[in-house]
Amino acid sequence: MLKEIENLLVLQDRDQKIRTLDAELKLSPQERKEVETRLSTAQAQFEQIRHETQAIEIERKKLELDADTKRAAIARYKTQQMQTRKNEEFQALAGEIGRFEKDIGTIEDEEISLMERAEAAKQLVAAASNDLDTAKHLAANRLRDLDAKTAALESRLSELRSTRESLVATLDEDLCIRYERLLKSKGDSAVVALEHDVCTGCHMKVTTQTAVKARGAKEIVCCEQCGRILYEGET
Ligand SMILES: [Zn+2]
Repeated sequence: MLKEIENLLVLQDRDQKIRTLDAELKLSPQERKEVETRLSTAQAQFEQIRHETQAIEIERKKLELDADTKRAAIARYKTQQMQTRKNEEFQALAGEIGRFEKDIGTIEDEEISLMERAEAAKQLVAAASNDLDTAKHLAANRLRDLDAKTAALESRLSELRSTRESLVATLDEDLCIRYERLLKSKGDSAVVALEHDVCTGCHMKVTTQTAVKARGAKEIVCCEQCGRILYEGET
């Protein structure tokens, strides 16, 4: 195999690795965002459930206050009943007392139902709080892993780039430019094997002349179809 081809293959290997790692590195902010979104969803769910529980408690206190006001009124009416001598007034007060007692009964029923809801909500809050703790724990772990992964990728990339620079320095400048243009336009590879006279880059059969030249390994040969640099891959 031509020495230049051998060097280009090493360079191409580094370039492909750089490409893969670069793509992986670019995913990192997206993954980070997903972790943060999951966490803020769990946080929002918890806040919502807690808010609902607080609303039940506020409602319950309001009812309690209402009942207390009515109880105080009943006590007042009963005092007035004892003080009055008018039968009409006594009856009117008895009517009010009866109405308020009925109201208090209704309020107490509502209070019981609210207390049951509060109890259920308390369990939901506890479960949501648990979920939130788990989500926080997972997010912290995941973000730490992502940080470590990013650091490792960056360090590996910088190593590969420096190796690449050293390799490029040893190569013929024109050949290197040609290789880089090809790699950029093809995306995957610029130097490919010729196997059974077929270019493994574009999978087309090359001419006999090109195949003979590639086997000869005396000069740089390119595929007539895709332009990739060829080397004899058959053993
Ligand atoms: Zn080709």
